[in-house]
Amino acid sequence: MESFGHVIDGEEVSSHEGATFESIDPWERAPWASIALGSATDAERAVKSARRAFDEGPWPRLGHTERGRILHRLADLIEERGDELALADTTDMGKPIAETRGHDVPRSAQNFRFFADHARLTPAETFPMQSGHHAYTQYDPAGVVAAIAPWNFPLMMETWKVAPALAWGNTVVLKPAEQTPASATILARLALEAGVPPGVLNVVHGYGPNSVGQALTESPLVDRITFTGESNTGRAISRAAAQNLTPLSLELGGKGANIVFADADLNQAVEWSIKAIYTNSGQVCLAGSRLYVQESILDEFLARFTTAAAALRTGDPKDPDTQLGPLASHEHYEKVVSYLKIAQEDGGRLIACGDPEGWGVPPTVVVDAPQRARVTQEEIFGPVVVVIPFSDEKEAVDLANDTPYGLNAMLFTRDLSRAHRVSRALRVGTVWTNCFFVRDLRAPFGGAKNSGVGREGGAYSREFFTEPKAIVMEIAEN
Ligand code: NAD
Repeated sequence: MESFGHVIDGEEVSSHEGATFESIDPWERAPWASIALGSATDAERAVKSARRAFDEGPWPRLGHTERGRILHRLADLIEERGDELALADTTDMGKPIAETRGHDVPRSAQNFRFFADHARLTPAETFPMQSGHHAYTQYDPAGVVAAIAPWNFPLMMETWKVAPALAWGNTVVLKPAEQTPASATILARLALEAGVPPGVLNVVHGYGPNSVGQALTESPLVDRITFTGESNTGRAISRAAAQNLTPLSLELGGKGANIVFADADLNQAVEWSIKAIYTNSGQVCLAGSRLYVQESILDEFLARFTTAAAALRTGDPKDPDTQLGPLASHEHYEKVVSYLKIAQEDGGRLIACGDPEGWGVPPTVVVDAPQRARVTQEEIFGPVVVVIPFSDEKEAVDLANDTPYGLNAMLFTRDLSRAHRVSRALRVGTVWTNCFFVRDLRAPFGGAKNSGVGREGGAYSREFFTEPKAIVMEIAEN
């Protein structure tokens, strides 16, 4: 079995108590790696290391050009070692290697390149004043950042947090999800190799409640908490952070509405709608898990959609041709399967587009479920889409807005004015028209309602990971 330790103060180390846990490969349904199991003591060691590196070390004082050079070198190493990183995430969580190798790893390298360049190239504002003074903004690094990540895009979500934090001169303690620990340790090893100084990027493995996660969120030495995960976990973290008034960025759950109007290009709508719900076996916060289809095209759309779903290749995630692997863990598999039962109890009818295999659930369509059913309202986080017809634009918007979540929505139409009207009416953080999952890292990313607090991306990440300071100077008359 492979071993992955914590990385604290530039060293890969065991837990203080020597405890370990096993990471399970969900395709083989067997342990594949031994992981250091951290406690509050290990979290404290890492926070103190990050604190020292911030207060006394060179990183916050290096300047954007030198930091950017090191972060680009880290991006190079991520690309060079892409096979190792992709295999780590695929083995930890069963995501097809075509996605980890083809998407998550390149995007992780891009996160470092983008934020290194963004920090270097962003000007600060100046405010000439009539009173004989002028003011300008100084973007000081915020300090020690606790980054707590989910298991569904392990390396990609971790780098989405670590890259802007480091680019703006902060030091970091990263806690990956306990289901997907391996790639975080590899990332920290590569950061040291790239020249990131000891203590600047620490990784501590462990659980959330009463463990590493909780200890990080309660620490008075932490200046920012960036969290991605479930909305209920976001609530617990908000309560913990309130003790020290630590600023938070929360990227939480979703129940994305995907609205297909009768005038849509059906080939395009089917292709994107399949990707929106079945990519990563539906374990995507942005998944289009509520599919609202205008009633005049419902039968034709459903026939095409189920045919396309049945054609998806399921199986061994290490096979480059596989499109759907198993779910990430046995616990999560049981949760998704329980929703299939709930869907039927609520009046839904299941169309399974394939056969179950191990901890895999085949692409599944639920029809006839009411809008208020649990299967329509709650985040399932699996390859399960609820299809509901609508009659007109107003009804589509009302149905789409009728959940506690507000992360994102998709709409398919050829009518430009309608696309703009509907986009404005949707209470979400991102709307994709005639596409899905296309990102510009300068754009705001985050959720409305129970899907999050705050935005990250480009200047939004700068606001969060810095302490913008106003400096006001008098200009003497002579
Ligand atoms: P989760 O909330 O169970 O766990 C996420 C992380 O939080 C893990 O590292 C976990 O150990 C830690 N944690 C749990 N309880 C904690 C506590 N009390 N204090 C501190 N840390 C704690 O989420 P998950 O199951 O890993 O991920 C799936 C969820 O993430 C879904 O709801 C999904 O929608 C969401 N997600 C959101 C986005 C987004 O950008 N909005 C992106 C990806 C995933």
